[in-house]
Amino acid sequence: MNRSARSRRVPPADRRYATGSIGYSTREPMQPTEVAEPMKSFRIALYPGDGIGVEVLNEAVRVLGCVQEIVGGFELLYTQFDWGCAYAARHGHVTPADYLETLRPFDAIFLGAIGDPRCLPDPVTLVPLVQIRQRFDQYACLRPAKLYPGVRSPLRQPGAIDLLIVRENSEGEYAVCGGRVKTGRPEEIAIQSAVHTRAGVQRILRFAFASARTRRRRLTMITKSNALPYGMALWDAVLEEVCAEFPDVQAERQNADAAAMNLVRRPERFDVIVASNLFGDILSDLAGEITGGIGLAPSANVNPERVFPSMFEPVHGSAPDIAGKGIANPIAAILSGALMLEWLGLNEAAARVRRAVERALADGAATPDLGGSLTTGQMTDRVIQGLDDAGA
Ligand code: ATP
Repeated sequence: MNRSARSRRVPPADRRYATGSIGYSTREPMQPTEVAEPMKSFRIALYPGDGIGVEVLNEAVRVLGCVQEIVGGFELLYTQFDWGCAYAARHGHVTPADYLETLRPFDAIFLGAIGDPRCLPDPVTLVPLVQIRQRFDQYACLRPAKLYPGVRSPLRQPGAIDLLIVRENSEGEYAVCGGRVKTGRPEEIAIQSAVHTRAGVQRILRFAFASARTRRRRLTMITKSNALPYGMALWDAVLEEVCAEFPDVQAERQNADAAAMNLVRRPERFDVIVASNLFGDILSDLAGEITGGIGLAPSANVNPERVFPSMFEPVHGSAPDIAGKGIANPIAAILSGALMLEWLGLNEAAARVRRAVERALADGAATPDLGGSLTTGQMTDRVIQGLDDAGA
């Protein structure tokens, strides 16, 4: 493919974030005899947030616009919300009071990153994030970690790492349950309880088993029942029951500490890892790091029943230290966009984005966090250039 055809695929920056359809169509007009497939439309809430969240989401939307044009048959209808620290400076709060009602009708929420401790403390800015996950019952947090050719892992012999962490997102150790008494006194007491419910463990395990069925059919459940004999013992018991429903999936348990060790020693052995909120949080950062770092790590917070919108976001935060410099790696956001496409049933478009990312990385495209010198926009351009060739 010649270069001019490739560069035509890169939409101009000033057409980003249009509310409504991104109409970059360069396809030939349809002939009268053709029978058109009905266009699938999806309403996407864009929540860029703060810092590099805004920069990387811009770029991810640019990629989605291009893949929409290439694959065709669907349109993403965007509405952008300017919530975050700048909004708080004007209005006194990071979102309007009715933000959950506003987000409810969307098919998906595409988030950049929230927070900037220089402006507001994290516990204030992160409230909407927690509320969205809770109120929209996004109880499964998906964090795939794949080591792409061309990306350096800090491991000496990393092998072919390609795993999916399914983290319970609604209860467990992060259920706000506890209190402090005699605050500040020498005899102060703090109690922080983990809350595990049978129904909550069942549903996340079933979701993880079903995910394993679409992959290499291996599931590792993280436990620690040797030291946490109530909550984690419930996980163990429910695993025994649920694994009988999925005889075609090979299931095992590993203690959290052993799993951390094995992620470093033999990461290629893992396929799907399912874990409680805290263990999933810690292990997914480790998995992200061994596959090239936080700039590449996508995530999804999904409501598997699809009663509520699901939310897609890069794992990284707003990274105030590099915000505004144009050097943030957009790949985590772009791959989060691919997860969103897949969730919406747009599998061909999702696969095309992933292959284009894979190709760009294999060709040595790299932002400074990966040891390269590309800007955020240049890195995105390299992905977009690969979209045309990344067909099935
Ligand atoms: P938090 O997760 O608490 O919001 P944060 O916003 O300060 O934290 P993280 O996202 O955790 O930062 O990232 C830690 C560091 O990793 C950042 O300070 C930044 O230097 C680097 N980093 C994060 N994301 C990217 C990215 N997309 N591209 C390049 N570097 C990144």
